Amino acid sequence: MKRCSKCRANKPESEFHKNSAQRDGLANYCRPCFAESNRISKKKNIERVRAEKRRYFANHPERRAANEKAYRARRKLLFPGEDAARALARYHMNNPRQPCVYLVGVEPFDVGPVKIGHTINLPVRLVMLQNGSPLPLAVAYVWQFDTKALAHTHEHLLRSQFKSCRIHGEWFRPDVAMSEWIRGIIATQPDIET
Ligand SMILES: [Zn+2]
Repeated sequence: MKRCSKCRANKPESEFHKNSAQRDGLANYCRPCFAESNRISKKKNIERVRAEKRRYFANHPERRAANEKAYRARRKLLFPGEDAARALARYHMNNPRQPCVYLVGVEPFDVGPVKIGHTINLPVRLVMLQNGSPLPLAVAYVWQFDTKALAHTHEHLLRSQFKSCRIHGEWFRPDVAMSEWIRGIIATQPDIET
């Protein structure tokens, strides 16, 4: 038996995760307490990152404007059905090595499977993904970021949001909620500027 240092209950050793950093090789918190504290710190982290992003764009209106402009330009090239790799290659020739998070997959995207990933070279990534896929892939959506770190954080947020739909690795099979989200982001894209 071991006492959980959070809820103070005495529980059998099997009720604790392994942790080789501890003298007895077991975590200090029991499994439920561990899960709960994990959940809370994840939630705090997500809120912190969101607040940071909001602050950043509030203080950098020019970045927001540039982002929106780039977004519209990108949107012009990216729409379901177009040869995504070719369209993106064109876009990235003018905007090289832009950190981004992408949602790619087999159409219709709300059925999937879809992949959430981040890269600084989307055309190259798409070629690699397509080479490994028996079905034609298309780009459902791209979020562009100033830094790799921001892209990585956003990718994490999305993956944890939809972790219940995860098939393996970065691939997801949308459930009702994820399907709705995908239809939403595709439908709410700004009008294409001509
Ligand atoms: Zn506990």
